[in-house]
Amino acid sequence: MKMTSAEVRNAFLSFFNSKNHQVVASSSLVPHDDPTLLFTNAGMNQFKDVFLGIDKRNYSRATTSQRCVRAGGKHNDLENVGYTARHHTFFEMLGNFSFGDYFKEEAIGYAWEFLTEVVKLPKEKLLVTVYQTDDEAFDLWANKIGVPKERIIRIGDKSPEKKFESDNFWQMGDTGPCGPCTEIFYDHGEHIWGGPPGSPEEDGDRFIEIWNVVFMQFNRQADGTMDPLPNPSVDTGMGLERIAAILQGVHSNYEIDIFQNLIAAAVKIIGTNDLENKSLRVIADHIRSCGFLIADGVMPANEGRGYVLRRIIRRAVRHGNKLGATDAFFYKLLPALIAEMGEAYPELQTQLPVIERVLKLEEEQFAKTLDRGLLILDEALSELSCSVIPGDLVFKLYDTYGFPADLTADIARERELSVDEAEFEAAMQAQRERAKQASNFGTDYNDNLIIDSATEFLGYQHLEADVKIVEMYKD
Ligand code: ATP
Ligand code: MG
Ligand code: MG
Ligand code: MG
Repeated sequence: MKMTSAEVRNAFLSFFNSKNHQVVASSSLVPHDDPTLLFTNAGMNQFKDVFLGIDKRNYSRATTSQRCVRAGGKHNDLENVGYTARHHTFFEMLGNFSFGDYFKEEAIGYAWEFLTEVVKLPKEKLLVTVYQTDDEAFDLWANKIGVPKERIIRIGDKSPEKKFESDNFWQMGDTGPCGPCTEIFYDHGEHIWGGPPGSPEEDGDRFIEIWNVVFMQFNRQADGTMDPLPNPSVDTGMGLERIAAILQGVHSNYEIDIFQNLIAAAVKIIGTNDLENKSLRVIADHIRSCGFLIADGVMPANEGRGYVLRRIIRRAVRHGNKLGATDAFFYKLLPALIAEMGEAYPELQTQLPVIERVLKLEEEQFAKTLDRGLLILDEALSELSCSVIPGDLVFKLYDTYGFPADLTADIARERELSVDEAEFEAAMQAQRERAKQASNFGTDYNDNLIIDSATEFLGYQHLEADVKIVEMYKD
């Protein structure tokens, strides 16, 4: 069944609305009241307290299309972008939720009905996984739905020590609501490399996970104990782009309508002929996360959420540079983004002046040091005798030329090299020490320059600084 992404979104929400689910708007990408979370990474985030029984709503069933960013924290897909067919930093998660209302049987039934009757996926291309010990879910798939047993795969914990570390035990973060889940996969065909879930080739892109149906039963505490939730509930998430790919008859998410149009815009703006270059996919991905993050109030900064945004912008700029962009190009993709997504998300249009200004300024600032930094890196690499880039060089690129460590790692990976992360961390630590020493002498000029670990989010102490930057970017 051929459907545009917008049609898929509407079909999903109306299907669940017809099953008495309240259609709830997507929440912000910034989970303001949840210090355990970097960015909204799943549809259930805005309902966390409802699952925990702390918050009550006047509905017990809800459905959403939630904007999500996975570029840091527990679910981090930044490094996958450009390498897999199915990962974005920004994506939309379609979800249905039961707050102590229905449980496994209806949740599985609804998912199957939507996939096979509403959007009419061929049943023989679907397979499912369940948590190893979840006989109830296995039985429902096998006997109620009628999925052949050989296409129901039990997935266990990674090891006895890593209890509840399984693809079929979903956790929002290190703490919070969690539970066993059942996932639905689509087989894109033999011609694509990859194996079924649980097999050694599962990371390939032949069998793509489309929908995760979580049976929320526990609240995980910081010490790892699992407290039962007051009411067993349901939380599901299906990537809009992944289901759209199937319905549009393409394999990769990057071939769906939204991405084809963003990529076409990038080709035109940058003026490249290299249409297959994976940098185009990275840029198309990154304009979505950056546009939406700024629309939701995140501003580039040297810490926390703002630093993640800065890193994504700089990665996009570097990929544009690789394709031959000479002037600031990234912000010029915003009209194309609005053409694709502005109807569903009007804030993109209303925030456009701020988003444009921020992206342009960031790009112009980074462009000043990018060429020089790349030159230094190239020179050093030509003399490199092993396949590991020294941490000191990664630090120098970061400290002097504004290269976030993951950007250098991205370049390294393209050349089949890696970076010495331990040495980089040591250099960072030494810089922190120096900053601390300096602060013992009165004014701490280095305070704003301390940038904590390039990959892990460390806290929100600088949110106030972010707010000041918002002011700065305003007229
Ligand atoms: P994968 O194993 O492919 O990385 P996941 O198991 O991490 O996916 P979930 O946390 O179960 O994903 O999220 C629910 C659904 O959201 C997935 O089944 C998928 O359809 C979609 N999804 C997850 N991560 C991404 C992403 N980075 N980009 C696009 N869609 C995603
Ligand atoms: Mg994942
Ligand atoms: Mg998975
Ligand atoms: Mg999953």
